[in-house]
Amino acid sequence: MRVDVVTVFPDFIEAGVGFSILKRAQEKGALTVGVHNLRDWTHDRHRSTDDEPFGPGAGMVMKPEPVFEAVESIRSGASAGGGAGEASAEPRIGSGGPPPARPPVVLLMTPQGELFTQAVAHELAEEEHLIIICGHYEGVDERIREHLVDREISIGDYVLTGGELPALVVLDAIARLLPEVLGAEESALEESFSEGLLEYPHYTRPAEFRRWRVPEVLLSGHHAEIARWRRMKSLERTLDRRPDLLRQARLSDEDRELLRAVMRDPDNART
Ligand code: SAH
Repeated sequence: MRVDVVTVFPDFIEAGVGFSILKRAQEKGALTVGVHNLRDWTHDRHRSTDDEPFGPGAGMVMKPEPVFEAVESIRSGASAGGGAGEASAEPRIGSGGPPPARPPVVLLMTPQGELFTQAVAHELAEEEHLIIICGHYEGVDERIREHLVDREISIGDYVLTGGELPALVVLDAIARLLPEVLGAEESALEESFSEGLLEYPHYTRPAEFRRWRVPEVLLSGHHAEIARWRRMKSLERTLDRRPDLLRQARLSDEDRELLRAVMRDPDNART
């Protein structure tokens, strides 16, 4: 998968993708990240990417021309089957190989977008090529949203100063879903949201720490009982913290039975 990020802070993205799973995903060849400095598509002496809004009001708005040019240049590079334009900050561009069959999906990071969830991460991880536009200041000229962007993504109901952190959040969530990026021990299958539930609690050694013991069932070696306990904890946790998730979760008959037990007799069921 290829992801191109258009930003006025390329170093921010470069730094963010240089660690942990994002780094590993690139080393394994599962992910190629292209970082593009928006200023490379400006034509004025000051290399301005923003301008005053029409109408009264404070704050600056990101100009349409550099953003359109950046995305179009990346797109044409993609359709030519290789590089993503000479303005790329680093030559991380996939060398050779067949051109992506599907056109890139252009994402705009904005607090007004659809909420980024694990389900959206799974959808985006299926794509071959994403182009992420990071906004700044008051946001971007509306014509970018209307005529350039395929999907608007918000990482939550709060306002950040720029789209770089949201872009890294999206990149991180996607990278760990790409085939062979996570090892078996970090499986992305059995975790929070994967089935619409929060995950069960984890424990590691020592079995007793400051007189707090690990639940006995986990020390029992009885796999079926441990699986049942985990499912129960997962349901209980979701009921406690995120009852909204339960409405859409995929529950088996046994899950419903466990859930009824938790609701009937919380204390008993929770030990
Ligand atoms: N005035 C705008 C907010 C601009 S915040 C409004 O009220 O909608 C500046 C930039 O930061 C945005 O263009 C966007 O790219 C990014 N940003 C801020 N909060 C975000 C969020 N929750 N999710 C995604 N991007 C966000």
